[in-house]
Amino acid sequence: MKFVPAAVVKIDDPLWSKQFALVRDVVLPYMWEILNDRIEYAEKSHCIENFKVAAGLSTDKYYGTVFVDTDLYKWIESVSYCLSVEQNPELEKFCDKAIDLIEAAQQPDGYLSTYFIVIAPGKRWTNLMEGHELYCAGHLIEAGVAHFQATGKVKLLNIACRCADLIDSTFGKDKKRGYPGHPEIELALIRLYEATGEERYLSLADYFISTRGEGENIFAEERKKEGHSYIFPEMAHFECDYFQSHLPVRKQTCAAGHAVRAMYLYSAMADLARLKNDYELIEACERLFENTVSRQMYVTGGVGSAKLGERFTVDFDLPSDSAYAETCASIGLMLFSSRMWLLNRDKACYDIWEQALYNTVLSSMGSDGKHFFYVNPLEVVPQTISKNPMLSHSKTQRQKWFGVACCPPNLARILSSLRGYIYAFDDGCLYILSHIGSSFKKGGLYVKLSNKGDEYTLVIDSDPIDIYLRLPENSELIGNQFENHGSGYFSTHHTGGKQQYSYSLKPMIRLLRAHPSVSALAGKLCVQRGLTTYCVEGIDNAAPLSTYRLPADAVFTEETAEWFDDMPILKTSAYNVSEKNWERKLYGSQPCVYESKEITLIPYKHWGSRGENEMRVWLTEK
Ligand SMILES: [Zn+2]
Repeated sequence: MKFVPAAVVKIDDPLWSKQFALVRDVVLPYMWEILNDRIEYAEKSHCIENFKVAAGLSTDKYYGTVFVDTDLYKWIESVSYCLSVEQNPELEKFCDKAIDLIEAAQQPDGYLSTYFIVIAPGKRWTNLMEGHELYCAGHLIEAGVAHFQATGKVKLLNIACRCADLIDSTFGKDKKRGYPGHPEIELALIRLYEATGEERYLSLADYFISTRGEGENIFAEERKKEGHSYIFPEMAHFECDYFQSHLPVRKQTCAAGHAVRAMYLYSAMADLARLKNDYELIEACERLFENTVSRQMYVTGGVGSAKLGERFTVDFDLPSDSAYAETCASIGLMLFSSRMWLLNRDKACYDIWEQALYNTVLSSMGSDGKHFFYVNPLEVVPQTISKNPMLSHSKTQRQKWFGVACCPPNLARILSSLRGYIYAFDDGCLYILSHIGSSFKKGGLYVKLSNKGDEYTLVIDSDPIDIYLRLPENSELIGNQFENHGSGYFSTHHTGGKQQYSYSLKPMIRLLRAHPSVSALAGKLCVQRGLTTYCVEGIDNAAPLSTYRLPADAVFTEETAEWFDDMPILKTSAYNVSEKNWERKLYGSQPCVYESKEITLIPYKHWGSRGENEMRVWLTEK
């Protein structure tokens, strides 16, 4: 089973066409300006300048984190996805310019990390825990593959292969022992193997994955070496589980450590397990996925609850206000869940994929395409955030850019490649996994899915084929040409030729409680419509939002919002605990006095769009 690749799928959908156009026309040109340091009052990037310094074309100093090169690689990858469906001379020109610069910065032997070339020549591969050289190489490889597949141009792919070949000649059995502090190279090498057919790239990915956590810990060995210095001094105290190197990967049971690292590693494990039919690895992936989504994931599809280390902590630790829930981690969860689907075809994997996409991922960019969230809390009180240092990572408004800017370009690449996750196909079987209006033609198969509101039309022109429609959680699918297949799919047998099918898919509204062990959410309810999580904001509901009480039998009405058009706002009758008889008291034994109050809820993805104000996903149950 394979996904129908992004390169052949065209999106034509009321919501997603707009989103794709925003990335192509605004986000990517804006990011090019940012990477060139031409946007006023934004955090400095210096990314392009670092490549110039490494290439000897600038006498400036290196600036930025050790992995800032990846901002450019992810940008090129995203531009490539755009170029794969239509020409765009302007973006292509910028892209070619960037690739020339990358080529100029690459060392004659294929090495490429502008940080080590400029700041620490001679120290390459000595600090795998923090150096991010393999992480950067991974994003270079992904960009090289995407650019080649989109344009047929081989320049960046060749740069990537030179770098991969150097890594292959450096690491492995009977060579230097190692694996990256930040996984990414593994899934990139598998992608390079799938694009080129070169077995050695798959073997190298297997080596990095399978060596991890085996024998003496590489990072502990590095620390003991004379002259070792830390790039991130706080990491001196991080345990092996932070880097997912505490156990061999096949023995790991709980999602642990830095959330983005974890998601990228598990994604690569799922790829390797699929390609090698490695049942032990498949079981490990199943365990890690299950632990992530049923013990450590926010209702917004966010993962990694702790600020310090941007990491997983323990099961059920899901505070709303101090949540970290980095955008990249939810993008990583999308990568992991889609790969899990390839392993087990369990439609629940795609419910997670959509839960992450519709909430955290979409929330992380403003509707102007120029402002972003890195951290995605489920509750903000602006005054508290401004004074409480424990919450200083939370922002109440999307930012122009970040000192560490991994998230915005990562967002651009997932949104521009989204169409590569809609359909999956193998002999005689077509899956429609996400109901996004789109079409493709591949071999003798033509598929066109159109939607208007909740009504869908599917046109298929092909040989006989079985069609499976995924039923998204908390939705109702009605279509008398399909039968309920029972495992979350509706199916029909297409008997051949050109035929039209129709169905309706209606998101339902439900109230959710959290597992009783989630102490932060005890006695609380949240509202979902389909897989879209809703929240309340102070601008619609008088603050403090902590005084609201939601009855479990609340009935909701849908209304059209004035300021966004992709989804309704929800209204319901709730209560507000009166502050009247409290006066100057902080504590008291007087009973609560409830006042009826209508409340308005908006999709979480739109929070913070109307200026700074309170926001809350979970409301106390009445
Ligand atoms: Zn990030």
